[in-house]
Amino acid sequence: MSTELLERLRTRGWRMTPQRRTIAEVLGGNHVHLTAEEILDEARARLPEVSLTTVYNTLHELVAMGEVRELVGQRGSKRYDPNVEAHHHLRCVCCGRILDVRPEGAEHLRLPESELHGHTLVGVDIVFEGRCSDC
Ligand SMILES: [Zn+2]
Ligand SMILES: [Zn+2]
Repeated sequence: MSTELLERLRTRGWRMTPQRRTIAEVLGGNHVHLTAEEILDEARARLPEVSLTTVYNTLHELVAMGEVRELVGQRGSKRYDPNVEAHHHLRCVCCGRILDVRPEGAEHLRLPESELHGHTLVGVDIVFEGRCSDC
């Protein structure tokens, strides 16, 4: 079980204002992969003065800190993932829901030199696609 985002941020001495704290709370938990708009809606339900600018600034900062992962989903929409443990994703092609998964053999996956196209690798995200039981 990974340490919760809020707890990690507290340990790091992250500057905690009511708005930033609410955003971090909304982001916390497992299998959470929300868009900035969803984070704003959820945060405003808890603290009405949360602004979209603060949401974007906070997300940008958390991604830069390596505490939140930015995922590019369907149609280029960005989703934010507070799980920084090694994991991959299972996405429902109907409703877009994304779950954290740990595929077997993923740790052995390598991109050969000839396929790197000059890139320095910083990460890997395998996305399995399926239809969830609700769809
Ligand atoms: Zn679904
Ligand atoms: Zn995830």
